[in-house]
Amino acid sequence: MHIERMAPGVSVAARLPGGWFRNNTGWVTGSSGTVMVDTAATEHLTRRLIDQIGIDSAELRIVLTHAHGDHVNGAGLLARRGASVYAAEAACADVRAGPHTFPSVFDAPDGMWGAIDPPERIEPVSERTMFDLGDRRVMVVPVPETAHTPGDLVVYDDVSGTLFAGDLVFSGVTPFALQGRITGWLRALDWLDSFDAARVVPGHGPVPADAAVLTGMREYFHWLLEVTTEETCDFGALTERARQRWAGWHDQERHPVNLRVAYSENHGTDLDLAEGIGAMLHAAGGPIRLDLNTAGDAAL
Ligand SMILES: [Zn+2]
Repeated sequence: MHIERMAPGVSVAARLPGGWFRNNTGWVTGSSGTVMVDTAATEHLTRRLIDQIGIDSAELRIVLTHAHGDHVNGAGLLARRGASVYAAEAACADVRAGPHTFPSVFDAPDGMWGAIDPPERIEPVSERTMFDLGDRRVMVVPVPETAHTPGDLVVYDDVSGTLFAGDLVFSGVTPFALQGRITGWLRALDWLDSFDAARVVPGHGPVPADAAVLTGMREYFHWLLEVTTEETCDFGALTERARQRWAGWHDQERHPVNLRVAYSENHGTDLDLAEGIGAMLHAAGGPIRLDLNTAGDAAL
């Protein structure tokens, strides 16, 4: 397992390189408890995570940064072992409706997901909330508007200046805006700056994220909005331009979805979800192969 120690009492399990369902999990430990930020995509990965970090689940408070399966799938397992689970108010119903494994989009080996039923009880977070860990407190803050999803939140440890940004920040991985808004996400990046954090832990990719990561995301989002102002857009050609310009990013098949989200914002139209996902699968060359528990995952 690839555990990065960010600061005293602050660690991250990084699942590199951070592509589909390979999210980062963080935790902050004080004298009287631990807050974990997100879980893992499969039962197997969640069990390994808990075994390796050696924390009794009953003492855990788990904060889910948003309702996507990679971040939340392990929450039910940990809740049944006694952990309490928190999420933004707007994310709770989506977490409860899970697990979301999208078998028409992702090609997973039999048994890969394991037991990932959602937690029965989720505490909604609707405003800035402090979690007391004895000798330190961490702050859980809902994002003011739809950015990556309608129910994002971030976690800030002011002792170390560590900001867990969830999927507001993708490091070396193409952002994914299927359930989000590009304009809101741009404003949320400015909002993240207001924390004046010493380090930012992204939802995916190497930790911590350096300043160039945030600059690159802003450039990408502005580009998405600029190239989709015309009524008629050649999404295929634009996808190719994006692939070339951000060639180092993983999961390039997300561009056609992000372009359509930007187009819908520019033109006040609804996103055609099925058409967007179809374009994504076309760009990926078919269903996206996942093998989360074994192949290529020496780093967890
Ligand atoms: Zn996400």
